[in-house]
Amino acid sequence: MENNKSGESIIQYSIRIQLMLNKLLVQQVQNHLGHSTTLPMAFNALLESISVSFDRYEDTIKRLESSVNNCTNELGQLNEKLQDETAGLKQAHYELSRIFNQVNEGFFAKDIITDKYIQMSVGCEKIYGYSVEDFYTNSLLWFQVIHPDDRLLIDKENEQLNKGIQIKSSYRIFHKDTTTRWIEVKAVPVMVDGRLARVEGVVNDITEQKNAEKLLMDSEVKYRSFFENNMDGMMLSKPDGAILEANPAACEIFGATEEEICGYSRAELLDFAEPALLNLMEIRSRTGKVKGELNFFRSDRTIFRAEMASSIFKDANGEDRTCVIVRDITDRKKAEEQIADSEQRYRQIVETAQEGIWMMDKNYHTVFTNKKMCNLLEYSEGEMLDKHLTFFMGEQGRALAAPSIERRKTGISENMDLPFITKSGKHIWTNLSTSPLLNNEGQFAGGLAMVTDITKRKTDEELIKKSAASLDLKNKELKRKNTELEQFAYVASHDLQEPLRTTSSFVQLLQQQYKGKLDEKADKYLEFIVDSSDRMKVLIKDLLDYSKIGSKYEQERVDCNQVMKNVIADLNKAITDSAAIIIADNLPSISGYVTEIKQLFQNLIINAIKFRKPGEEPYLKISANLTGNYWHFSFADKGIGIDKAHHERIFIIFQRLHTRTEFEGSGIGLSHCKKIVELHHGKIWVESVQGRGSIFYFTIPEKMPGERRV
Ligand code: ADP
Repeated sequence: MENNKSGESIIQYSIRIQLMLNKLLVQQVQNHLGHSTTLPMAFNALLESISVSFDRYEDTIKRLESSVNNCTNELGQLNEKLQDETAGLKQAHYELSRIFNQVNEGFFAKDIITDKYIQMSVGCEKIYGYSVEDFYTNSLLWFQVIHPDDRLLIDKENEQLNKGIQIKSSYRIFHKDTTTRWIEVKAVPVMVDGRLARVEGVVNDITEQKNAEKLLMDSEVKYRSFFENNMDGMMLSKPDGAILEANPAACEIFGATEEEICGYSRAELLDFAEPALLNLMEIRSRTGKVKGELNFFRSDRTIFRAEMASSIFKDANGEDRTCVIVRDITDRKKAEEQIADSEQRYRQIVETAQEGIWMMDKNYHTVFTNKKMCNLLEYSEGEMLDKHLTFFMGEQGRALAAPSIERRKTGISENMDLPFITKSGKHIWTNLSTSPLLNNEGQFAGGLAMVTDITKRKTDEELIKKSAASLDLKNKELKRKNTELEQFAYVASHDLQEPLRTTSSFVQLLQQQYKGKLDEKADKYLEFIVDSSDRMKVLIKDLLDYSKIGSKYEQERVDCNQVMKNVIADLNKAITDSAAIIIADNLPSISGYVTEIKQLFQNLIINAIKFRKPGEEPYLKISANLTGNYWHFSFADKGIGIDKAHHERIFIIFQRLHTRTEFEGSGIGLSHCKKIVELHHGKIWVESVQGRGSIFYFTIPEKMPGERRV
């Protein structure tokens, strides 16, 4: 309250002035009226009472004043108190807003009617990344940043708020920095006249909490899937042995449902007779975990051997729990026994093997050899161990082995011949069938070789090679000579014809003009000359024909039945004259030279007719059959036969077994046949006993070399 200079309050001052003025007024009126006797008494009395009243009034005022003074004092004190309290409140407000803006939560109050924020704390800025100003200016911002998938939720919550129900929800928002955050919003509706007027609330960033929950969920899911899908039996139990959970693999191993397993006591699962059991349990209680092999019971009380791992841990509630993993190893044990068995068998095989077995590490140092290998190289197994492959080789071996040593590292299996030098210095050749040994990572870890002694084969091969080379040389020489001979035969026979023709025509002239004019002897000589020049002509013609075989024609498909028909037709006169019986089976089609084949057939038929037994009709049976890749032709007659001594000679040119007087001929027919058959890559021979007929055989390949399949 304001005070004047004398320290009184304005109220006291104004009351005092009022009283003073009232008194002055009464005195003035009295003074004025005291000089006048005309005023009635009543008026004086009135004045008197007014004056008294004034006094009383003054009195009352004084009392009032003192009470006002008291009040003013109290008020002053109250005011001071109030001022103190206001300062306290201000401080509290300041503190509060400091806290309000510092806490991680964001606070907000929104007027629903004006759709404007009334208040928003700085905490919101941290959560959303937008400034408080942004929210004040855009009242929809809070909705715009919500993840589209979560907006539906907001519609529902708005409905709740409109009904006056407070809400608590969590959803995703896009922070201004574009990251997605999880927030939790608690909002309280403020209703006015039954309508939602204001919403006040708290926002929290719960991203970390959500992530942690997700991690927890993930690990729970992982743990579950691990537990459910594990191939090993897994059980969770209390320290007293009561089983709480069993996975499907455990159910399968024990042949029981999870419920049944959870009802089993330790004694029902474990074979307490197992001596290792106590020791294992002791280790587990001392170290918290243990691994080992134990006997377990299936639900049907059959015993099985299992690998077991067990550990003690504390669950989320701090309770002791035991995890037991059981792996049935019955099959493995069986397999191990079988392996041991087959290991034994394998050893026997290896030791009795006829091949050397040599195993090397990746650096080609010997790690294993069997007896045979030791015998081959004349070293003991101990002497061979750790020795490098090349230790057993000379220069040649090393040079041959070097590239293959490199190749082996690339994982190729190979077969090769390598020379070694034995302990006594003998040079041997071996065949190595090698394969790389790979480790579990597929890397080269060494090599295994099956080794065979091929020294004899190699020596034979060398010999064969040498003789093949000389044979080849001789063959070439022979071919060259043959060609020369053929050329010579051709040239000779061709050139001989000319002088022969002249000789024989002059001899004929001589005979015509001087026959009977000279003496008898001269006539005989002329006859001889004519006769031998005629034979000479035939010989030369035959020789010429022989040299021409196969030189003119192209190979073609030859129907032997047709050829046979033609030959028989050509030889009709000779056949009829001699009353020969010729039986030809069905003959094949072959690939060859038709003229030559015709000549071949013709020569053989002529011979069969010619060399018949005297007084007998010629008989010839012709057949062909396929044996292997060759057609075997046979011409079997019932003629005079051939002594075994001459079976080969008869195929040589101009070789005859008879005189011309006995049988006509120049001795070239069969050599023709031989040449023709050889031209067709076949062979010709005779089987015959003198006086008992002959069978001439020849072969012709089903397919001529170089002939393409059609
Ligand atoms: P050529 O018939 O002109 O004497 P070949 O070369 O055809 O000449 O025969 C050579 C010899 O083989 C004949 O002289 C004959 O002694 C003997 N020879 C050939 N074919 C037969 C046969 N079918 N039976 C008996 N001997 C034969």
